[in-house]
Amino acid sequence: MTELRWNPTVCEWVSTASHRQGRPQMPEDWCPFCPGSGRVPDNYDVYIYPNDFPAFAIPPPEPAITGDDFYKVRLSHGQCDVVLYHPDHRSSLPQLPIDHIVKLVRLWRKRFLELKATPGIRYVLIFENKGAVIGVTMPHPHGQIYAFPLIPPRLEKELAAARAHQRTHKRCLFCDILKKERRGGRRIIAENDAFTAFIPFYARWPFEVHIFSRRHLGTLEAFRASEERSLAEIVKWVTLKYDNLYQMSFPYMMLLHQAPTRGQYPYFHFHIEFYPPHRSKDKLKYLASVESGAGTFLNDSLAEEKAAELRAIPPVRAAELA
Ligand SMILES: [Zn+2]
Ligand SMILES: [Zn+2]
Ligand SMILES: [Zn+2]
Repeated sequence: MTELRWNPTVCEWVSTASHRQGRPQMPEDWCPFCPGSGRVPDNYDVYIYPNDFPAFAIPPPEPAITGDDFYKVRLSHGQCDVVLYHPDHRSSLPQLPIDHIVKLVRLWRKRFLELKATPGIRYVLIFENKGAVIGVTMPHPHGQIYAFPLIPPRLEKELAAARAHQRTHKRCLFCDILKKERRGGRRIIAENDAFTAFIPFYARWPFEVHIFSRRHLGTLEAFRASEERSLAEIVKWVTLKYDNLYQMSFPYMMLLHQAPTRGQYPYFHFHIEFYPPHRSKDKLKYLASVESGAGTFLNDSLAEEKAAELRAIPPVRAAELA
């Protein structure tokens, strides 16, 4: 049973999915995502696998409760996919060859277009949760895609800010950020011919990295083949730097922020955001009272200093990382 419940105090939907309590823990000796499991093809490069415990589905599941005008309830109409990055159980994103990551970018794009064409879908969120500290139950390298019947609140906020900036200045907010970051250069950690990776001025996490396309693009749909390749390259660089930072497979949340799938959003600009929970090798940042209850992030580090640290780390593979 799953539904969306309206919170009238902050005007946001909450997705409840009580069936997800039955989700498996990390399997000890069997992995459904490994070839030979019977759950996935015996041969694949990258692969879309339907989430066994979806928060959204078509047709949507029965809600657990009936809403009213005050406590509104909406059906969890949507789709949840698992994106398998590679058949090898132990290869994480930074360990994959760029040619292989290009296949992943193309799969993201193909699935984005399919979901965009699906009735009732308003937003397609492509993301990855990596590492046990983020609560990942399956160690096999994978990301996910959620197709939402609404625009998630954080994206709504970005869209509103971008719309207002466009109206006032007649320019794209994200293009302006890019220009400012590239002019100063202090927070840039890597750059290739089509993308710039940097720790934003307003970073909430010590090692929060954003990747902006230098061309003004709304979604993966507008990518050229050369940009697919450049994106694969810079994603590999950023995640390699992460792994080399503390010589460990570095946990993170990675989200592709794209324009919504219905309507026109010419002021929005494609970017990727990484939120790693580590603030040092053995210390994690928690979303405590001020973050969770007030919405203000306390970042105990300077973006400029952390960017210098990441910039100095070569994006090449170190020896076997734990
Ligand atoms: Zn596996
Ligand atoms: Zn732009
Ligand atoms: Zn964003």
